Amino acid sequence: MQNWLNVSDFHDFSIHNLPFGVYVSSNGKTPCVAIGDKIIDMRLAADHGLFDHLSFNKSVFSSGVLNDFIETGKANWSAVRKTLQDALTDESSALYLNQGSILVDRQTATMVLPLHIGDYTDFYSSIEHATNVGKMFRDPANALLPNWRHIPVGYHGRASSIVVSGTDIKRPNGQTLPPEATQPVFGPSKRVDFELEMAFIVGKTTELGSTIPTEDAENHIFGMSVFNDWSARDIQKWEYVPLGPFLAKNFASTMSPWIVTMEALEPFRCESVKQEPEVLSYLQYSGNKNFNINLEVDLAPENQEATTICKSNFKYMYWNMAQQLAHHTVNGCNVNVGDVMASGTISGKDENSYGSMLELCWGGKKDIQLNGGETRKFILDGDTITMRAYCENDSKRIGFGESIGKIVG
Ligand code: CA
Repeated sequence: MQNWLNVSDFHDFSIHNLPFGVYVSSNGKTPCVAIGDKIIDMRLAADHGLFDHLSFNKSVFSSGVLNDFIETGKANWSAVRKTLQDALTDESSALYLNQGSILVDRQTATMVLPLHIGDYTDFYSSIEHATNVGKMFRDPANALLPNWRHIPVGYHGRASSIVVSGTDIKRPNGQTLPPEATQPVFGPSKRVDFELEMAFIVGKTTELGSTIPTEDAENHIFGMSVFNDWSARDIQKWEYVPLGPFLAKNFASTMSPWIVTMEALEPFRCESVKQEPEVLSYLQYSGNKNFNINLEVDLAPENQEATTICKSNFKYMYWNMAQQLAHHTVNGCNVNVGDVMASGTISGKDENSYGSMLELCWGGKKDIQLNGGETRKFILDGDTITMRAYCENDSKRIGFGESIGKIVG
C-alpha cells in the first residue's frame, strides 16, 4: 500500500500491521504505534487532532499503559487503525503535516511493558509439546494424560514477573532433587530453559459469573505478542506434583513490546488440526480460528553469533484462543482488560520445530549444536534468547518484533 513514508508492504511493521506499544517520551510513558522504522506518538497525534472525528476520550493516549485505550472497545481499535492508515497515505493529513513532532525513530526509543497486567494464565495447548513432555517426564506409552484432548489445560501464572523484551533475567535459585539423590538440594537452577509461546491480550472486561462463548471470544481479544515463558526444568521436576508449576515458572516471562491487533492478523487465519474425540459443546466452534504465524528462536552465547535453534508455527496449536477463553470463563471466572493468556510452548512435529530446549536436547540426551562450535543442552549464563514471529503472504508481512532476554548469574 502506497504511503508517504515509503514503508514496504513486506516490512515487519508495514502499514498493514500498525502494532501498539508504549515508549518513554519526554512526557513519560506514552502509547505508540510502529510504522517502518518510526513510531507514532499517539499522545502527540491526538494533540494534533488526528482522532478528533472519533468520540472516545483522547486522554487514553496520555496514559502510561494501553489498558485505557483498549477499554474504549473494538470499534475504536479499528477506527484508530483506519485513521492511521488513511493518514499515512494522505499528504494533507495532520500526521504528515506534523510528522517532525509526532514521529520518533524506533531504534532509539525505549520501549516498556505496554500493559497493566492484572492476571496471567498459561495454557498447554500444543499437542506435540504436551506429548514430548509426557514422554520425558512420565510414560512414553501414555504421554498425554486422559484429560488433555478434552480440556484446554492451563494454570494461573504470575503477572508480577512479566517483563518487556531486553530485560536481563537472573538465574533462579530453588530446590531440586539431583539424579540418584534421595534428598533435595538448594542452589541455582542447572536447567534454565525458554518456552516459545504466543500470548493474547484480553480486550474486554467481564463480570464475575458471566461466560464468553467461543463464537464471541475473538471480540474479547485485543491482540497478540511473542512470549518467552522462562522455565527451570530441574526445579519443575521436583515441585510440580501434585499442584503443577510454581517457582519453576514464576521467576520471569518476557513479552515483546509490540501487540499486533487481531484485525491485522485477519488475512492469516487458517484451519486447526482436527480435534479427536469431539470436544464438549461449549468448546465447539465454527470457522477458521487458528493463525499462520511463523516462529523462530535464536540462542547467542555472550559476544558470539546467534544460532537459530527452533522454527515453529502458531498454526500447530491443538486448542485455539477462542476455546481457551471460553474454557477459562465457563465456570464464571471474570477476566479483565490487559490480562495476558499465553498459548503454552508451541512445538511442531519436526525436531527442529520443538519450542523448548528440554525438547530440543530431549531431556539432556542430545547436544544442541551452535554455529560458533559450542553446544548446549540448557541455557548458560550470558546466553541471549531471541524469539521472533511474523506472518507473510504474497502481498504483505506482519511482524511481531522480538522477545529478547539474557540469562545472567
Ligand atoms: Ca509455559
